[in-house]
Amino acid sequence: MNRISKIFQPLLIIPKNAVVRNQDLTSKSQRLMMECGLIRPSGNGSFFILPILQRSVEKLVGIIDHHMQKIDCQKITMPTLTSADLWKMSGRFEDAQSELLIVKDRHEKLHLLSPTHEESITSLLASIAGTSYRLFPLKFYQITSKFRDEMKPRFGLIRAKEFLMKDLYTFDCDLESAKISYETVNEQYKNLFDYLEIPYVKIEADTGLMGGNISHEYHILTSIGEDHIVQCKKCNKAVNKELLNEKQLICDECVPEDIEQHEGIEIGHTFVLEDKYTKALNATYLSKKGKPEILQMGCYGIGVTRLIAASIERFSTESEIRWPIPIAPFKLCIIPPKEGSKEQEKVKDLMEEIDNFLKSKEKSLRDDVVIDDRTQITIGKRLMHTKRLGIPFIIVIGSKAAEEINPTVELHDLNQNIVHELSITDALNKVMSQIKTYEIV
Ligand SMILES: [Zn+2]
Repeated sequence: MNRISKIFQPLLIIPKNAVVRNQDLTSKSQRLMMECGLIRPSGNGSFFILPILQRSVEKLVGIIDHHMQKIDCQKITMPTLTSADLWKMSGRFEDAQSELLIVKDRHEKLHLLSPTHEESITSLLASIAGTSYRLFPLKFYQITSKFRDEMKPRFGLIRAKEFLMKDLYTFDCDLESAKISYETVNEQYKNLFDYLEIPYVKIEADTGLMGGNISHEYHILTSIGEDHIVQCKKCNKAVNKELLNEKQLICDECVPEDIEQHEGIEIGHTFVLEDKYTKALNATYLSKKGKPEILQMGCYGIGVTRLIAASIERFSTESEIRWPIPIAPFKLCIIPPKEGSKEQEKVKDLMEEIDNFLKSKEKSLRDDVVIDDRTQITIGKRLMHTKRLGIPFIIVIGSKAAEEINPTVELHDLNQNIVHELSITDALNKVMSQIKTYEIV
């Protein structure tokens, strides 16, 4: 079983009356993650992801893989370095330069630490002549670190210089098919965010530097968002405020009183790019008639580390982290009695029962359980620590577990904010049945 006493989790204690530098650059999620030993800064705008948070990152990566592969996306790895020449060919190098991290090699060649890979993936297809129309649509994705030279990194993992992103690129033979691919991916984004139980809004967005005509953003609404989202509370239609200058009314039927403004953190963005990159780099397929034709393209991002930070921002209290259950680092924490307490001796059988119960379960469930074996610390202090970390289910083996007749444990369900008093078997079964509802099929 995983043991808290062995996990590297450097807690950071910020005194209550401490003067916090650059308060406007810090967010609740960043503070909680630092206090709980989930992240540590490494220079300005980059972070170490420590073991507990790494578990959440890997869970989210697995969930994204599952959802992407279900719609026939193929996972690949593209080089982090992209030749600046490719970005000059697409015309983006000059426009985006201020935010690009540029590397010069020993031959004086310029490369980007890529923020995104439209040029890179298109150059791959352009280098392969005569790909048959039969192979399309093609959908390639990767989950890798991306880079942006932020003027003002802030809010921890929400706006960092280096971040983990899922980027997907679709290629189709004509615009009509490209739009079908676009709908398919957007539908799957909905399924993914619904599975995570993240309240999000999908809005029409500006295509900006990316190109193309159709684009949507996905936002988690929080109090620190950097995007202003205007939403009609009657019909739920929402748009980015940037776009409102052109069309003041976001819907035809509703009255101005229905319009509300929120702050949002962008967690996903989708674009139909048409032939902006494929034309510039000459990426073609071989048509039915045997002629090379220009491909049509779409691109789709999800900020992986940002999504985790934004959901912590949205769900947590000022002092306790709350996670969407599928990406909680552990799902169940067991807190046994303090060393030397009168309960400790009496609950030995019970501890064995827990052990046997978990041994009978599959590895994935067992791996989601952690025991807070720091038994030199009181139950109360360990419970406070676990609640702060937000592990959604906690079983506390306290004095009632040592009673002769009907021994019970406390089962804390943090996301529902309920405490149950149950026999150990009932408590374990209850947690397992709850966890099972998140199994991916
Ligand atoms: Zn409306």
